[in-house]
Amino acid sequence: MTQKLFLVITLGFTACFSAEPSGNVTTTTEPTAVSSTETSSGVTSPEITTDFLTGRFNPAQHPDFVAVGKPYATKPGMMLQKEVFEAYKKMFEAAKKDGISLTVISSTRTFEQQKNIWEGKWTRYADTKDPVERAKRILEYSSMPGSSRHHWGTDLDVNDLNNPAFEGKGAHAKVYQWLVKHAAEYGFGQPYTPLGEARPYGYNEEKWHWSYLPLAKKYRETYVKTIKDSDINGFKGAETATDIKVVERYVGGVSSFCK
Ligand SMILES: [Zn+2]
Repeated sequence: MTQKLFLVITLGFTACFSAEPSGNVTTTTEPTAVSSTETSSGVTSPEITTDFLTGRFNPAQHPDFVAVGKPYATKPGMMLQKEVFEAYKKMFEAAKKDGISLTVISSTRTFEQQKNIWEGKWTRYADTKDPVERAKRILEYSSMPGSSRHHWGTDLDVNDLNNPAFEGKGAHAKVYQWLVKHAAEYGFGQPYTPLGEARPYGYNEEKWHWSYLPLAKKYRETYVKTIKDSDINGFKGAETATDIKVVERYVGGVSSFCK
């Protein structure tokens, strides 16, 4: 009961909070044949299929994924693509030398994990009767299952899930300043910058969410070209995806640096 209440409160406040179990990543989605392709450098990464892009595979059973343990993450069971983790470790060490402490608090999430987050909010926001409005309320910070960058193994949340913690006198203000200055040197960028003229659509700003662009740019590009709003289905409220233009506005709606 206490644990459940804690989860409800946390989910209410945070954006890309992951309901990752404390053990290995598990999924009720039948693991599909998501295979690897080798790049010129000899590093393998997943073949870019619809199942891969929409999180319908099990990263814990995928050869291109690796567990992110201590001191890099707060808890066991988090996964990243191997290439992403190698880049992250370099960034972590460089930050450490500058007195900056980076911690991964959420990384890869499956369709099923995102569905748990989404449907939890769908139930809690039942006071918003209009389904499109209810979905948009959730979309301020949380993705529809199948449309999260967290499915790709390239994106991670660091240190905290609240913008104020990274601002002014916040506990992680120096962390954010360091990332803005140096993350790009390691391939990382912030996809969810403030909404405005430069970024008219999508999720609210997330100062904690960073993306490994050498891979994620390709995934976003393929996603917006090949996946339709009607392909985003299999959860409560999915019928709103077409009205909301989820692919164009939310998957597509990232900072220009991340395109
Ligand atoms: Zn995130």
